[in-house]
Amino acid sequence: MNRFWSPAIQSLEPYTPGEQPRIEGLTKLNTNENPYPPSPAVTDALKHFSTERLRLYPDPNASRLKDALALEFDLTQEQVFVGNGSDEVLALAFMAFFRQPRPLLMPEISYSFYDVYANLFDIDFRKLPLDDQFRIRLSDYPVDNGGIIFANPNAPTGIAVGLEEIEALLKRNTDSLVLVDEAYIDFGGESAKALIASYPNLLVVQTFSKSRSLAGLRIGFAFGHPELIDALERVKNSFNSYPLDMLAIEAACASLTDRQYFTRTCEQIIETRDRSAKRLEELGFSVLPSSTNFIFARHRQLGGAELMSYLRERKILVRHFNKPAIADFLRISIGTDEEMKRLVSALETHPDISH
Ligand code: PMP
Repeated sequence: MNRFWSPAIQSLEPYTPGEQPRIEGLTKLNTNENPYPPSPAVTDALKHFSTERLRLYPDPNASRLKDALALEFDLTQEQVFVGNGSDEVLALAFMAFFRQPRPLLMPEISYSFYDVYANLFDIDFRKLPLDDQFRIRLSDYPVDNGGIIFANPNAPTGIAVGLEEIEALLKRNTDSLVLVDEAYIDFGGESAKALIASYPNLLVVQTFSKSRSLAGLRIGFAFGHPELIDALERVKNSFNSYPLDMLAIEAACASLTDRQYFTRTCEQIIETRDRSAKRLEELGFSVLPSSTNFIFARHRQLGGAELMSYLRERKILVRHFNKPAIADFLRISIGTDEEMKRLVSALETHPDISH
């Protein structure tokens, strides 16, 4: 603590992302990255990028990327926002929409950045419990609120809520913003994008980090009514007029040209996920139904922290959360088939796991 720190900073508990180790030879299944490289179209675009261009500022409107996203998702440029990873898009949305007299609502178990932003921006919030099968129950959310945020599919549970449930919420809840964080939507679940034309209070946030293998370039985006997008632009321009650097724009546009690679790698991850979930069940785990590129599983007898350390000693990184309601669970990102085999073999050799 330092006497120059503001009171808000003194009590701030920042988010700690999963470990990004600098040592080689680890099987890294802890931060939900894509195990496959980005599309060859991205490699090509970056290879041919003229560094001479870097002396200039990038396009403050990232129009090329917004146009490409609008085309891909059948929207207009005015319905599209882009930012530095969906983390930044979410932060801007918190500032633009959730500083309200009434509390922001969110699920008890969800992406832990939501609490961090709410605390940072001094936003009052209320958490609603999941049901006994770890599902979000949108029908429990009261309309007296200053906004609603949830991830769909949810993280770290991996479970998706249906579009009808989201639409029912939007029909009831017309006076505050509903933000659906769709970081994992390309691995399952139905996108609420289909609803933005009908509901001017819906903001949908997605990312290039997971299904498009571009976590290292930090590219996120949002869809919504043009007035919501305008609000995000205003907040963004008050911080940094340039949403994305030139290389990020170049790579994102190239990625969008290669739909075949995108579909193939997503399908491969889904197939590996479903096979891995089955094998873990045979090894005594119960696995929540996943619509994402990770699985959330707990073992019949062994604790989550214990299993995480056991795997860490065998150079396999998975994620464990120190929250009582989910302390038994491990969150395991889906890797290549080879990586998942390594995980399964390590579990099979555990003295208390029979196979
Ligand atoms: N939302 C959820 C639910 C996530 O799990 C993540 C990744 N940790 C993000 C948003 C942020 O992703 P990014 O900033 O890489 O786009």
